Amino acid sequence: MAEQTITAERESSLIEAVPKRLFINGEWVDAEGGATLEVLDPSTGRLLCTVADASEQDGWNALKAAEAAQPGLAAMAPRERANILMRAFELMHERKDDLALLMTLEMGKPLSDSYGEVTYAAEFFRHFAEEATRISGSYQTAPAGGARFLVAKQPVGPTILITPWNFPLAMGTRKLGPAIAAGCTSVLKPAELTPLSMLALADILHEAGLPAGAVNILVTSTAGKVMEPLIRSGIARKLSFTGSTGVGRKLLEQASERVLRTSMELGGNAGFVVFEDADVDAAVAGALLAKMRNTGEACTAANRIFVHRSVIDEFASKLAAEMDKLPLGRGVEDGVRVGPLVDAKQLDKVDALVTDAVEGGAKVLIGGTPVDRDGYFYPPTVLTDIPSGARMRQEEIFGPVAPLTPFDTEEEVISWINDTEYGLVNYVYTESLRRGIRVAEAVESGMVGLNQGAVSNPAAPFGGIKESGLGREGGDTGIEEFLETKYIGIAM
Ligand code: ADP
Repeated sequence: MAEQTITAERESSLIEAVPKRLFINGEWVDAEGGATLEVLDPSTGRLLCTVADASEQDGWNALKAAEAAQPGLAAMAPRERANILMRAFELMHERKDDLALLMTLEMGKPLSDSYGEVTYAAEFFRHFAEEATRISGSYQTAPAGGARFLVAKQPVGPTILITPWNFPLAMGTRKLGPAIAAGCTSVLKPAELTPLSMLALADILHEAGLPAGAVNILVTSTAGKVMEPLIRSGIARKLSFTGSTGVGRKLLEQASERVLRTSMELGGNAGFVVFEDADVDAAVAGALLAKMRNTGEACTAANRIFVHRSVIDEFASKLAAEMDKLPLGRGVEDGVRVGPLVDAKQLDKVDALVTDAVEGGAKVLIGGTPVDRDGYFYPPTVLTDIPSGARMRQEEIFGPVAPLTPFDTEEEVISWINDTEYGLVNYVYTESLRRGIRVAEAVESGMVGLNQGAVSNPAAPFGGIKESGLGREGGDTGIEEFLETKYIGIAM
């Protein structure tokens, strides 16, 4: 990461340079009637800029462009699709200073986190560039002889992609990479709080040679109204969503009307378990990462930290000391490791969850009340003695709050971990390989970090079970979500 001093002039010239219109059919266009929405800087609460605010008609224009571009993209040589993704990967690296700063300005995360995300996001393009030329099928003799089975893969068709504000770039490239690799066109709707990163990415894809209409970017303040008719139309054959379980449920219902393929990356309520035989310092470092990355605004964030009673005092004091050391401030400032939350709603939610736990008897080791300054800041907070009825045992905190609860037995902690409708990821710290595998198998989640506090990797299958979602992104399964299997039975 290149830490640098960012001047107000650098911030405003960067914002100035971002295209602030809709990207439809390879062109930048205003929204119908010239409507715009405001993008704020969460570290000050002040206006950064306005961008075009799409109407239902703009939505239809984007979907029609994706539909028209579909046959061309499907017919394009896989190597050419791979080359476009590789060029986009390289351009993202060339422009990493701009992309990282833009993300920090619109979302608030510290620049160090933004640099990490640019690298992570670009990696999806490289990974899927490599996958694009490996799409293959099979040929088989029927078990009874006679016929042959030819099995081929084809793109599912136009797609609708909806992404959240917490990882404005990576959640986009994680969907666009496999869509382009598989030969699927798309309409992508970024979160209205953080549209700038995706608008900058549209410029990169265009420059990398993506044909007009293959990716269309639709920013709107009326997501439900604009997206629902598009989803229900059946023109797109696939819906991929990352966001809250509540919205995911609604979208699944809409997608069912025309039986769209769906991928859903929804909420999480990760457990983080530290056994008595764990390396406590490694567990503290892992918890710091799993809790504080992105200022806690991640569906993979450690939401419930369970520590064996024999080591909880040591763990709690070390974690509190580490969290207390993290400098808080505007994400653009040198050395800052804790940025603001994304908006006032998020700040109020975190504050309400902490207040609820404290009123129920939780003890505050550090933090515990919002920071008194402009912007939406909540300080690193460590709580112990979390009452079993506390809302934060069931709800995603999405902030820099670490709730610690002691446990006595393996059986007890596994049952607590699984006592949630979510099932995205859990983290397990133990020096015993046998116990590690046993617990990893017993916890109900799509992913497990065994002695590590971060699992995301573009080459690994990311996704949840239970109400955390459907399908996997990344890995060798990620592209399958954008491919149909066609079986051709051949008489011989
Ligand atoms: P969060 O609570 O983290 O903001 P959401 O699930 O509300 O998560 O938002 C994730 C994405 O889903 C955003 O792009 C948002 O605009 C979009 N979204 C929210 N409601 C709807 C809806 N009814 N239809 C389509 N997209 C929606």
